[in-house]
Formats: sequence, C-alpha cells, structure tokens
Amino acid sequence: MPGRSCGSCTACCRVLEIRALDKPAGILCRHNTGRACGIYAERPEACVQWHCLWRRIAALPDALRPDRSGVVFGLERRHPGEGAPEGACIVGRAPDGEEAFARWEAVEAFAMFVREGSLPVWKAYARHAILMNPSR
Ligand code: SF4
Ligand code: SF4
Repeated sequence: MPGRSCGSCTACCRVLEIRALDKPAGILCRHNTGRACGIYAERPEACVQWHCLWRRIAALPDALRPDRSGVVFGLERRHPGEGAPEGACIVGRAPDGEEAFARWEAVEAFAMFVREGSLPVWKAYARHAILMNPSR
C-alpha cells in the first residue's frame, strides 16, 4: 500500500521461517537489531518479497500494525493446522500470546477476512491453530 511502511515494526523477522538463513519460525532473526534489519541491502529474497497483510490492505486500520496490535496477518502457502492440507490461506499469528486476538482491530480483521470468504482463515498462537471458517 502506498504510504504504509513498517516503521519500527520487525514482527515478521520473528514470525517467518527464513530457509536461506536456517531461521526457524518463531525465533527472532540473528540479523535483527531490535529496530531494523542489520543486513537490509543484502537480506534474503524471502524477506524482500514478503509483506504482511497490514502492508498490503488499505482496509486494515493503522492500529493493526503488528508491533501495535500483537497480531501478524499473512498470506501463507501452508495451513498451520496439524494434518491440514497445503494451499493458500490467511493466517493471523499472535507471537506474544492469544490475548492480542481480543483487541478490537484483530476481531474486526478476522471478521472481515471470514466474511470475504475466498480463503481459509486461521488463528494461530503458540502451538495452536484454529480454522475460523470451518465450512471451508
Ligand atoms: S510484520 Fe508487516 S509491518 Fe511489521 S515489519 Fe513485517 S512487513 Fe513490516
Ligand atoms: S534478514 Fe533482515 S529482514 Fe530478513 S528476517 Fe532477518 S532481520 Fe528480518
């Protein structure tokens, strides 16, 4: 989205798996300085290409920026549920705990994605994953 930038958010540097760096999901990248990427110009292609949905969708409010809301929404290729099939889906992750899902901006964002209905929508935290539109 034009005009929307990460600012001091670095949530995806923790949430994403970056295979080129052998970085597992859920662990802060060793190149993260706390406020930015320490190898920004040479960061892996996976980091260059990836933007969370807050960066992509104008309808999501400023309050939903992941470092403010505690929830990172992303378009993912693999369903997070155990035994769930491969395929595009929307995942809202709360890396610091499920309490973040109770905030109004997260509640409204999940409702918007479920209403739109074109993809499965997952709520993920710790080792849990909940499908929000089970009819899919
Ligand atoms: S989670 Fe989104 S807003 Fe935060 S650093 Fe990553 S792309 Fe930027
Ligand atoms: S290389 Fe940079 S952008 Fe990529 S995860 Fe690490 S700190 Fe974040």
